Amino acid sequence: MGLIDDRFDKNIFTTSLDFLFNWGRRSSLWWLQFGLACCAIEMISASMARFDLSERFGMLFRSSPRAADLMIVAGTVTKKMAPIVRTLYDQMSEPKWVLSMGSCANVGGPYDTYAVVQGVDQVVPVDVYVPGCPPTPESLYYGILQLQNKIIKFDTIARKEGKGRAEDQRVAERQLAMAGIRG
Ligand code: SF4
Repeated sequence: MGLIDDRFDKNIFTTSLDFLFNWGRRSSLWWLQFGLACCAIEMISASMARFDLSERFGMLFRSSPRAADLMIVAGTVTKKMAPIVRTLYDQMSEPKWVLSMGSCANVGGPYDTYAVVQGVDQVVPVDVYVPGCPPTPESLYYGILQLQNKIIKFDTIARKEGKGRAEDQRVAERQLAMAGIRG
């Protein structure tokens, strides 16, 4: 009546809890503080004042895997380092995501040798691949945006459609990333 007539209709919206949680998750990705090789310099550069990745996306470096939900694999993954990367991944809290940054992490890069893992997706499940040697901070930005879209739109394919479907998607994305690198 009177003052409150028709005042609330336009201010109320409905949504699902899933969407709300995913919106919160994608807007506050906390990433694990580690780098493996030269790509890490670009990752650090992206987080500094000029590119300001952390401030713009609500992201923070975390030094403990238990407080992180995003792993950016930036650099060459040697076979000696692979078990450590896996341990760090296992220690991260759920739900968690992995972004593979650069040719080395994607497919071994120029190091087709006995000592280098030919793609970090042999060690941990990767959600987004960023090609380049090294990728620029802008490329990392693009990768983060893709990851955010994935989080909010698709949730985790594994949870919704099963692990087989998620694995198919992972393989398809890997082939796409490799085609981009070679093409
Ligand atoms: S992709 Fe290139 S820049 Fe990145 S770690 Fe490998 S060699 Fe270094």
